[in-house]
Amino acid sequence: MKILLVDDARSVVQVMTSRLNSYGYEVVHAENGQKAVEVFPAVCPDLILMDIEMPVMNGFVATNQIRAIEATQEWAWTPIIFLTSSDTVQNLITAIEAGGDDFMSKFVPEPVLQAKMQAMSRIAGLRQRLAVANAKLQNIADHDGLTGLLNRRSMDRKVDHAWSTALHGGDSFGLLMLDIDNFKKYNDHYGHQAGDDCLKMVAKAVEYVAHSTNTQGLTANAFAARYGGEEFAVTIPGASYAAYEHVSHAIVQAVHDLSIPHEKNSEWGVTTISVGGTWLEAANGEIKQVFRLADEKLYMAKERGRNRAEV
Ligand SMILES: [Mg+2]
Repeated sequence: MKILLVDDARSVVQVMTSRLNSYGYEVVHAENGQKAVEVFPAVCPDLILMDIEMPVMNGFVATNQIRAIEATQEWAWTPIIFLTSSDTVQNLITAIEAGGDDFMSKFVPEPVLQAKMQAMSRIAGLRQRLAVANAKLQNIADHDGLTGLLNRRSMDRKVDHAWSTALHGGDSFGLLMLDIDNFKKYNDHYGHQAGDDCLKMVAKAVEYVAHSTNTQGLTANAFAARYGGEEFAVTIPGASYAAYEHVSHAIVQAVHDLSIPHEKNSEWGVTTISVGGTWLEAANGEIKQVFRLADEKLYMAKERGRNRAEV
């Protein structure tokens, strides 16, 4: 367990630190509330022991600011125990109201301190396991079970966020809609199991293109998602028209190069994809209009012979 000990009194710090160390806990010291707020995000303590009276910033204000930092993250709540010189009822009430979880006398008998720390350490262990479980669940909730791409729900959220950022900053915004050519015929001919495998391979190729243009610096935050069925979407915020166009053609090429046999995609003999897109030099209007335009272009790509991008 890592403990952030916030106190300006050298003697208290020395005694507390040596006791806590002797129980096997790591102690990071901050000499006042402001220092505690500064180091808090980097230290990531499992527990904070917070003095109340301190120069520069007192413990209540510091607690308030730490709770404000935590409010920007999901499920973040670091236990804070106030260190007081007297355990009065009023101190307890003030401590809880200030966002603390408990209070403890600085002169607490050693066995009591040890027992309290043991209890806090159990909670810290539980919080860690919860954080891991939550991250796993979040990951499952955000991704499509078959292809591993972002699912529609998380894509909508991410697109909305990217769109409002672009609106705010007057940044460019690109959106590609993708649809595997003659996929119904593929399923009818090869079966749904093969259809699933085909979707997985295509998804991987699409994601690879988005990811590699990001790592090449051509785009910065391009991301792919499964839109539904055999449809995918690639969002390309803040990239140049040339980069956006490059991504669209690279996707068509990458899917073709997978060489997944598709007898019923007559002209090509392999699985291909059509792409329709729209790009705005400066985001404006509504995002649904962007989707509608990309969809129209996708329809055009199908009309003009498939295995192509209309952007
Ligand atoms: Mg003090």
